Amino acid sequence: MEKIVIVGGGAAGLELAIKLGRKLGGTDIAEILLLDKERIHFWKPHLHELATGSISLDSHCADYLSLARENNFSFYEAEVNGIDREKKVVRVKPNFDENGRELTPTCEIPYSKLVLAIGSKSNDFGVFGAKEFSFSLDSFNDAVSFQKNLVNAFLRASAMINQGKKLGEEQLKIAIVGAGATGVELASELSNAMHTLAAYGYKAVEKQCELQITVIEASERILKNLPEGISEKVNSILRKRGVKVLKNSNVTRVSEKGLSLSTGEFIPAELVVWAAGIKCASFLSGIGLETNELNQIITNTKLQSIGDKNIYTVGDCGCVPWIDGPLPFVPPRAQAASQQAKYLSDQFQSELNGKESKPWRYIDFGSLVSLGRYSTVGSLMAGFSNKAFFLEGVFAKFMYVMLYKMHEYSVRGFFKTLLLNISRGFFSQTKSRIKLH
Ligand SMILES: Cc1cc2nc3c(=O)[nH]c(=O)nc-3n(C[C@H](O)[C@H](O)[C@H](O)COP(=O)(O)OP(=O)(O)OC[C@H]3O[C@@H](n4cnc5c(N)ncnc54)[C@H](O)[C@@H]3O)c2cc1C
Repeated sequence: MEKIVIVGGGAAGLELAIKLGRKLGGTDIAEILLLDKERIHFWKPHLHELATGSISLDSHCADYLSLARENNFSFYEAEVNGIDREKKVVRVKPNFDENGRELTPTCEIPYSKLVLAIGSKSNDFGVFGAKEFSFSLDSFNDAVSFQKNLVNAFLRASAMINQGKKLGEEQLKIAIVGAGATGVELASELSNAMHTLAAYGYKAVEKQCELQITVIEASERILKNLPEGISEKVNSILRKRGVKVLKNSNVTRVSEKGLSLSTGEFIPAELVVWAAGIKCASFLSGIGLETNELNQIITNTKLQSIGDKNIYTVGDCGCVPWIDGPLPFVPPRAQAASQQAKYLSDQFQSELNGKESKPWRYIDFGSLVSLGRYSTVGSLMAGFSNKAFFLEGVFAKFMYVMLYKMHEYSVRGFFKTLLLNISRGFFSQTKSRIKLH
């Protein structure tokens, strides 16, 4: 019996575990085990909305244990920190509760096929102070922590104004490092959220303070991985919303009061978000497999690591050749993660039936950038026609929303996705426009 262990239940790993569980779980052909360091799943492309309080964690998360039971796979809450390829085991860190009492011990979990799906984190490039003084948007915990600090910043400023005190230069200023999709989407959501927050209970702040968001980008244009037309359009939308965009600017240091640029300029900021680049967990480069400078495991076109045919990757942690693509490797995107999960699930079943596996070909359906409640901009169908169609407005927003609905559908099935979306519609009528606590 095959023991397929999937490490990481994100956009790629969870979809794979569910697909395999539905087809092979509960049979005597294969056992499927999903490991994740968290108890709940939250879809990463929604993190900026969680960070600004425009969606709530409760109505968008899913319990791994419940999904495991419904879809015939097993789940174990554990953080993997090593792999012994000779013994074919993954090593798991001990887990403790908030009082320091051990929940689960260090252990080794055997596999016959191992799928690494642990995603990536933002890359601070070793910039001084970035770790200590900036937030990242790598997990739902990061997003929730940022949202609390955002509300606290308003409360603090409001109390100071009411006491007649002068605000510090950095107060109510936010700096976002990196103008890729994450940085740009966050900036736009934040410009909505900050004004909504001010209007809710912080009238003094609304009247007397200048709320400022600055996006800092090292290259000469924002969204440098997307077509130039999209980058220009988004730039002008951000400008209209009062977001300041600094291009060709390198951050050299982050401190409690803001950040310094290589030009010597200092940008005051109470909250700094680091959203530049990606990097994968360092243990990946210590397991004797070929990795790149981002610690991504290099794979062949069948998502199999070079050097160990029993170890596969799906999602951001793999560096996969893009067959006939405009770039040598597939970019780290949710749509690639989902396509890989579908491919590997089909491949494992074919292999178990003794069939030869086919290479995986990424289809780029285009990129959409959500700029808050009302605008979405992007390009579509680049993969089908080799031509990108520019997209904006309601249709673009619809397509963006559909990307998440497809994920929800893969995870929960049609009926539950429908019910959940109807209930969210009702719930949204009973709550404030953004989270205020
Ligand atoms: C704010 C933001 C917005 C984005 N917007 C878009 C978008 O609009 N469109 C798009 O295509 N892409 C977008 N992306 C990128 C997209 O989210 C990722 O490409 C995608 O989530 C990658 O999927 P994954 O399964 O590889 O990793 P993830 O979805 O990050 O999942 C990784 C999982 O592994 C778990 N894990 C990590 N380390 C360990 C460990 N050592 N042991 C056990 N478990 C572990 C984590 O808890 C997590 O559940 C966005 C990313 C961010 C941060």
